[in-house]
Amino acid sequence: MAPVTKQYDYIVIGGGSGGSGAARRASGWYGAKTAIIDAGVSGGCCVNVGCVPKKMTWNFASIAEAMKAGKHYGYKFGEPDFDFTSFVEKRDARIKVLNGAYENNWAKEGIDLIHGTATFISEHEMEVKPKDGGEAFRITAPHITIATGSYPTKPEGIKGSEYGITSDEYFSIKHLPKKMVFVGGGYIAVELAGVMNAIGVESHIFIRHNTFLRKFDPMLQETLTKHYEELGVHVHRNHPGIKEVIQVKAAKDESDPREKELKLIMNDGSEMVTNELLWAIGRGAETRGLGLENIPIKLDETGHIVVDKYQNTNIDGIYSLGDVSGQVELTPVAIAAGRLLGNRLFGPPEHKDDHLDYERIPSVVFSHPECGATGLTEPQAIEKYGKENIKIYQTKFSAMYYDVFPPEEKKKEPTQFKLVCKLPEEEIVGLHILGKGCDEMMQGFGVAVKMRATKKDFDSCVAIHPTSAEELVTMR
Ligand code: NDP
Repeated sequence: MAPVTKQYDYIVIGGGSGGSGAARRASGWYGAKTAIIDAGVSGGCCVNVGCVPKKMTWNFASIAEAMKAGKHYGYKFGEPDFDFTSFVEKRDARIKVLNGAYENNWAKEGIDLIHGTATFISEHEMEVKPKDGGEAFRITAPHITIATGSYPTKPEGIKGSEYGITSDEYFSIKHLPKKMVFVGGGYIAVELAGVMNAIGVESHIFIRHNTFLRKFDPMLQETLTKHYEELGVHVHRNHPGIKEVIQVKAAKDESDPREKELKLIMNDGSEMVTNELLWAIGRGAETRGLGLENIPIKLDETGHIVVDKYQNTNIDGIYSLGDVSGQVELTPVAIAAGRLLGNRLFGPPEHKDDHLDYERIPSVVFSHPECGATGLTEPQAIEKYGKENIKIYQTKFSAMYYDVFPPEEKKKEPTQFKLVCKLPEEEIVGLHILGKGCDEMMQGFGVAVKMRATKKDFDSCVAIHPTSAEELVTMR
């Protein structure tokens, strides 16, 4: 057996958002002797193949949209022309900077970064195989946090599904395909199909039901699904599903799907040929290779690590947070949970009860236009409190930005807000917004809803004119 080379106060497995938050709080704030073990690239999914490159690509697409709008304002130029490859190179360079920033921060705060894979040998002992092929060694700690995240899944039982890509490989694309199919109706399919459509790729979304974003309020689902169709995205509602994927022609390399040709055979016998196919049907808990079979840790039926509200697993001194624990799959949620856990484990006594409150977490989908939500949807509020105890405020209008658009185009550009209020005090238990600028708008309103603001509180706040957001404090 490999020798024990080091004993730590705290081992964090996974150097993504959650793991970094947990380790930095423990080491940087409270001086715990901490190691991060990371098998991939520092920064995890968010930095490398998630939030950061996604938002940069969304910004890239927003410029094409602004140029189209510019024509209505009287600007004169031809069709948007761009060099996608050079944008991707700049995006990659920025990500490298962030990888370095993560590692610098860890070093500054005294955290040992070990590039390698960690496997549990027993409850507080791990074997580490270094990524550089060096000799395996063992490390121990009384406190271990599993923050290994999740991975995008491909469907089982569909012949040829391996010829499609996931969001991980999407960010390697340097040359735009002519046509692309997205399977799934969640954040990833909606965000990436929206971006690709905006920059001229013929984009198809296959959804199993009549709308996408079904975890969101029906107002957002229905309006956005329809608007995507108006924007030119081919939304295949109630799609029968793919039965088989046949690779007619392989891509030259992963970054260039222009010549790639896939034939999709659907369950109803219809067929479609596309350059690229992206599965966005959810993510699986990243527990592969951790050796969880060597310890009696409890997993749920979907393979996520079971934790209580303090991120404790069923084993003393082993904790889990972020996607691998199957809670709200969002970067800032993992960071917050990691920091609070660090406070609880290594901080002063006043932090002994620290834990994340998973209620009323705001989030934004970078769709076209963007949408955001916090709290309960209207159906969830009705189920929880009863229809008679709920009052809905809703508004629909066209933002001022579109005033110079031709009327038939202006009326297609939706802005819609909904407040879900609990009677009798009209506490706002759900807030749902859709429209230009809603991404930035959401954060501030998220604070208000978290503070349990009432409709009266909203009304007492003087409007900022002229904005779209002012409609949220003037609703009747
Ligand atoms: P989601 O869980 O958001 O959505 C996946 C959807 O795909 C399901 O809801 C389901 O919709 C559909 N689906 C599932 N299985 C199949 C199938 N076999 N065939 C067709 N459709 C299927 O997962 P994503 O992969 O989009 O995103 C993963 C997570 O990443 C999200 O939970 C989100 O929290 C996070 N994320 C957050 C972002 C943000 O904050 N802006 C951006 C990107 C990701 P239905 O039931 O309607 O068929």
